[in-house]
Amino acid sequence: MQTALIEELRSHLPLDRRLAAASPGFRALLERALAGDELDVDDGITCLGAEGDDLLALIAVADAIRHEDVGDDVTYVVNRNINFTNICFVGCRFCAFKRQRWEADAYNVPVDALLAKVQEAVDRGATEICMQGGINPDMEPFTYRDVLRAIKTAFPAIHMHAFSPMEILYGSRRANMSYRDYLGMLKDEGLGTIPGTAAEILDDDVREILSHKKVDVRTWIEIVTTAHELGVRSTSTMMYGHVETSRHIAEHVALLRRLQRTTGGFTEFVPLRFIHDNTELFRDGVVSEPPPKGLYDLRIYAFARLMLRGAIDNVQTSWVKLNHELAQLSLLAGVNDFGGTLMEESISREAGADAGEYTPVAEIRGLIEGMGRRPVERTTLYRKLDGGDERAADGESTRIDGTGGRSGGSEVSPRPAPCC
Ligand code: SF4
Repeated sequence: MQTALIEELRSHLPLDRRLAAASPGFRALLERALAGDELDVDDGITCLGAEGDDLLALIAVADAIRHEDVGDDVTYVVNRNINFTNICFVGCRFCAFKRQRWEADAYNVPVDALLAKVQEAVDRGATEICMQGGINPDMEPFTYRDVLRAIKTAFPAIHMHAFSPMEILYGSRRANMSYRDYLGMLKDEGLGTIPGTAAEILDDDVREILSHKKVDVRTWIEIVTTAHELGVRSTSTMMYGHVETSRHIAEHVALLRRLQRTTGGFTEFVPLRFIHDNTELFRDGVVSEPPPKGLYDLRIYAFARLMLRGAIDNVQTSWVKLNHELAQLSLLAGVNDFGGTLMEESISREAGADAGEYTPVAEIRGLIEGMGRRPVERTTLYRKLDGGDERAADGESTRIDGTGGRSGGSEVSPRPAPCC
């Protein structure tokens, strides 16, 4: 059934024929979305239940809206993901990455090794470092600031996309500072943007099941909106496919939309499939076998494109969580950004994700072109680089040569992935 529908999806039937095949009530909902009406949570839940011809119509409408709102280019960013420690006391039950400090494979990357990793990334054309890690109980109060300072001193032009809201919460507590003062200090040290991770599902009942000690919804919102107010933008994410319901998903996305209407600070939305292998949730039977990859994921991407219309333009696929083929298919379901090339994405790898941890730029471009779309490199803040003229117009770096200047082109590179 799934294979047949995916083959049907590839047939590129015109939108009007897809709409004509949908059930009348669902077609009316899709026509409202096409007209630019905002969908409410109940509409979102309806989308998340779409099957058969309704699902094909939903995907076709998401594709049409993507084309209308952001065009046919598929962007990607060249960067490196650095998980600087896997030592963590938070104990999220969905996480296979964390280690206790006494475990044999626990690690803490020292600053000189971090600098070497950044240098490697720069040598491969990276414009951004995405840096997150576990919540290490032995961390010094100002470790995050000091690491940031060391990197920005050596590589002033690299864009630092670092520190999840959970890390901001922990760092500010350790430093005995308010979130505003702490984020302001990091911004002064060169923090560019923060990952909108640690969001999972923004519902405290769900979060209690996933992770008792994780940042709660109110605090997550406070940290992210404070960052946005300070001019530190963020991504937005959602982890799906565990204990949540369709209502949780629809309300999560509606909440992100409301926040965006207030701050305008989200650069993108990234749905992240829960990778169940090697996690406590799966081991303890809280989550059973995950739904097969495919239409389940495409439905989420298409739903997100409709729900976020007029609020968050960029919907990013995650080849790390899905795999290359499904990430390609997601380009038919409202996605306009391919993420990037990771040099290391330890978290998904340890939880059994199957797309590896690194996809060279040439391969990413080939995957995008294989779907008949134009690949375009972008900066963290979605400034397109392939056109040349607009480079660095917003103060972001383009190519980094280690001293902050520009250098020539690149062929091979890395990129980020939200972790916790
Ligand atoms: S998701 Fe992050 S905070 Fe949670 S256990 Fe893993 S490393 Fe720690």
